[in-house]
Amino acid sequence: MLSKLKELFRKFIDTASSMLTSREKLLNTVEEFKLELVSRDVAYEAAEDIANKLKALIEEGVVKDKRKLTNSLREILLTYFREAGSIDIEELARTKKPLKIVFMGVNGVGKTTTIAKVAVYFRDKGYRPLMIAADTFRAAAQEQLKKHSERTAIPVFTGKYGADPAAVAYDGVVYAYSRGFNILLIDTAGRMHTDVDLVNELRKIVRVVKPDLKILVVDALTGNDAIEQAKFFDEAVGVDGFIVTKFDAYEEGGVPLSLVYVSKKPILFIGVGQDYRDLKPFNPLEYVDKLLPAED
Ligand code: GDP
Repeated sequence: MLSKLKELFRKFIDTASSMLTSREKLLNTVEEFKLELVSRDVAYEAAEDIANKLKALIEEGVVKDKRKLTNSLREILLTYFREAGSIDIEELARTKKPLKIVFMGVNGVGKTTTIAKVAVYFRDKGYRPLMIAADTFRAAAQEQLKKHSERTAIPVFTGKYGADPAAVAYDGVVYAYSRGFNILLIDTAGRMHTDVDLVNELRKIVRVVKPDLKILVVDALTGNDAIEQAKFFDEAVGVDGFIVTKFDAYEEGGVPLSLVYVSKKPILFIGVGQDYRDLKPFNPLEYVDKLLPAED
């Protein structure tokens, strides 16, 4: 996991540490580093910010040794995650009753599997989750959730193919209230994210359901596309946080960093495999430690 960005950081730290006495060479190395970051899924604006901050520290004479350089870079990355804030989903689950979450994301990113994973996650903690299939546009989407329901024994509320998605979502919520479900996981359509109808449909669902959280599911393996999707959904509907799937197969490394830098929204979970329990709360410190082990 994350091996390519990790290797790039290691190479940069080694190269830069060998030329600490030459400010000019050091600044050139940072410039090259910036472009290499982009090739590891770091969004250009984030790579530029990292490079500018490093250059400023070099100009100030702060970067005196390898340890200082490593720790400065760590601090730059950690600051992005701090600025994106955090969401305590456990606390929300305890207090909201029911906690209503709308899931958005482009088809194929792993959205329905993720919904089932989140349902299992909360059932393991003693909650009663209900999945609500409000993607009535694709018959297959309803089937997909039903399949997850059969495999996990977590109930699913479905609507008729072609029905108004917001009405299905609303009916699902009413059904959940009357039956004592306390975690409501609402699936939405994921056709081309630039589709105007889709945006109106999502806005309507949000208006009707009044979710506590709007989560965008993105696939790490899509790299820069994941960042573009984040920008689009956030502007069109509003996103509170992300789940990043396929982390187990992800080597480039930059998607989590870019997501939080560009959107200033936190990552709640990462998907780390195809099983229902392959879902982990995202820990920024663990991510940074993995990429750039601290020098003490
Ligand atoms: P959807 O169209 O967005 O609902 O996508 P699906 O939930 O059907 O997932 C598409 C494929 O991605 C399936 O084969 C899933 O098993 C797989 N998948 C989902 N999440 C992960 C993950 O975190 N890791 C891996 N390796 N595969 C995943």
